Amino acid sequence: MRNYCSILLVSLIACHKPLSIQFEKFYEQIPELSPLDLSKPILLEISYVEDADYPKLTDADLQRFLNRTQARAKDLLGVPVFFQLKKKIEAKDFFESEKSKFETAPFSFLSKEWHLDSDAENFSADAGKIVRQQLQKVEDKILKKYFPDTRLHREQIYQNATEQFLKRLRAIQNEHDIQGNPIYQKNIPHKKYFQSYAHWDSILYQYADADIILYNGLVAGADTEMPIYVIARGGVTSAFIENNLHRKYHGVGLVTLYPCFSRGSYFVSVRGVYSPSDSIECAAHIFVHELGHLLLHKEENYTFEGSIHRAPPDLDYMKWVNAIKLQKKMRSDEVGLLKKF
Ligand SMILES: [Zn+2]
Repeated sequence: MRNYCSILLVSLIACHKPLSIQFEKFYEQIPELSPLDLSKPILLEISYVEDADYPKLTDADLQRFLNRTQARAKDLLGVPVFFQLKKKIEAKDFFESEKSKFETAPFSFLSKEWHLDSDAENFSADAGKIVRQQLQKVEDKILKKYFPDTRLHREQIYQNATEQFLKRLRAIQNEHDIQGNPIYQKNIPHKKYFQSYAHWDSILYQYADADIILYNGLVAGADTEMPIYVIARGGVTSAFIENNLHRKYHGVGLVTLYPCFSRGSYFVSVRGVYSPSDSIECAAHIFVHELGHLLLHKEENYTFEGSIHRAPPDLDYMKWVNAIKLQKKMRSDEVGLLKKF
């Protein structure tokens, strides 16, 4: 879900409709969400995708994480959920089984048109254009929450935001995995494409085997749809929900674990070392934020500090969690409803 806006319709003479038009037609035909019956416990099926080179969760930790998410979902959203782990699969095998989805029209539009290849020659310039385009759409009140230097004019903010974005993304990509290799490796397809929001997005639209995919890696990169908090984090999308007509709740979510479980140099430099228990607590809150979208159909919020409905504004997830714990009211009633994810 990235506030997908209507793509400009262009007149066409070709026999084959371009992907953008095919995708727009598909998106228009997705039925609008209707409220769920939350009086009875909601079962969510889980697939767990694991890369042995990234921090792994033991079976006991995974269970602890799911139990914590269940408890926090009840506390913060008032939603009764329970989880069933359906499948645990190696990242490489998962990539092999899912990669055809990147090429399947109309979803191939996402990986072809939204994704920016960080190995491309023009990456920095193109990423800068996107940062500018995306921030231009943001009103002053929100822009200043994420880029708080109020002395600056917008032009300077865009420039600083681009420099910060590129610097942070490169530092994240060069962080070392538990084998001592950079976490981003352009020659290993599952490590390259599983860091792309757009590639995961095309999986989520088509995935039929679970409601939530947990992945112990991370999504970090540039795409044309980046919201302001992803730009501020240096390209990190911690989690998201996408429309999915195969599943009961009409959405499938990805929750990544690396941003909370990393003990790598970059993440440590921006927030210190999280204890295993803090890592679980942060990841559980991220998961609950997504359940606010999936089950309550809540929109993204950018301004309610201390509300679970506002996505973490930076990579210090514990700071975000502590603000939520301090705030006794999540202001759910004030957050608007999504028609589609
Ligand atoms: Zn969100």
